[in-house]
Amino acid sequence: MSDRNSRRISELVKQSGNNECADCGYQNPEWASCNIGVFLCTTCATWHRRLGTHVSKVKSLKLDKWDDEQVESMEAVGNIQAKQKYEVHVPACYRIPKAGDPPVLLEQWIRAKYERQEFMSVDKQTYITNNSMEGTLMKKARDENKYFPRKFVISDKSLKYYSKENSKEPKATIPLSELNVCLAPAKMNQDNGLQLSYMCDGSTRHIYVYHESGETIIQWYMAIRSIKLNWLMVAYPSVAAEELVPYLTNDFVIEGWLSKTGPSERDAYRKRWFILDDRKLMYHEGPMDAYPRGEIFLGYKDDNYSIQEGVPRGCKDHDFSFSLTTPERTFVMSAPTLDERSRWMQAINTVLERTLRPQDNQSKMALASSRKSARNSRHSWFSLGSLV
Ligand SMILES: [Zn+2]
Repeated sequence: MSDRNSRRISELVKQSGNNECADCGYQNPEWASCNIGVFLCTTCATWHRRLGTHVSKVKSLKLDKWDDEQVESMEAVGNIQAKQKYEVHVPACYRIPKAGDPPVLLEQWIRAKYERQEFMSVDKQTYITNNSMEGTLMKKARDENKYFPRKFVISDKSLKYYSKENSKEPKATIPLSELNVCLAPAKMNQDNGLQLSYMCDGSTRHIYVYHESGETIIQWYMAIRSIKLNWLMVAYPSVAAEELVPYLTNDFVIEGWLSKTGPSERDAYRKRWFILDDRKLMYHEGPMDAYPRGEIFLGYKDDNYSIQEGVPRGCKDHDFSFSLTTPERTFVMSAPTLDERSRWMQAINTVLERTLRPQDNQSKMALASSRKSARNSRHSWFSLGSLV
């Protein structure tokens, strides 16, 4: 009997829809929730188990015994039908996680779907439908690794934060058009860590926040995406919402430690934390800095941007070096391993091979004009020479 059921289950998981995880799309699921009726990957099965058996009863497709009733319920539902039930009202701005995305995104997607059932009606999506949000987040101090509670408010076209609960004037007003948010749990060593980046006084500014509740941090993340989408839909009325969604927030392409040397032969290599954010390559003294020390706009290859292994003639070599040439100067960097050099060079090369979009020119202009206004500021602006 159970052998027959095992065979039925192993046939069922091969069917279209069931052959990828119901929650993250990972191929060849090895688990299932027998009461919900969905097939799951190992990671999502772990999150399902944490919901408790009153929400989801997790079984292994291969290792557990399946009775007739359980197999019948899997046959009756399956991934396609479950999606039609649990995902009917997923808002356009909602970022549906893929395998490998930050754990908090995946966990909250699974909790929102099955535990809170947020997508079965719009009533439970006030964080989206209100079109505004206010609350306290823990914010990292600019120059030290301490977090303090700060009031944050998003409404209409900006995100504001206040130094004190009763402050009248915000400490900063960030236009949403300038703001990028990305989940940064590993770097911040905070499961619910969020990095906000925007242009401020001629430089990119990074702010690091978290909330002890994963549900709350994801609500902030999605609310920012939702308000940005509403704003873009007004600005570009002829463009479909789904075409605007890729522009709401973007994860950094790659980040990590590299060593960098200056333009002079005498310059030493210094360790810097590099971030590639779309077409902007930034370097910092540390991973959690408020400001980059320099920012390099990456243009299109035909406009004299290129990348190659090694160092230019006369320049000191170091570990696994590579050189980035822009119309104005060559930047020399080195990666700690061969593998990391390949990853960085490939990531930068992909950007150089992509033609510029109108918004890329805006970002180039923002960096270029910032250089003029901030020449005497505390940052090192020489690197922006490449932008003019
Ligand atoms: Zn999964």
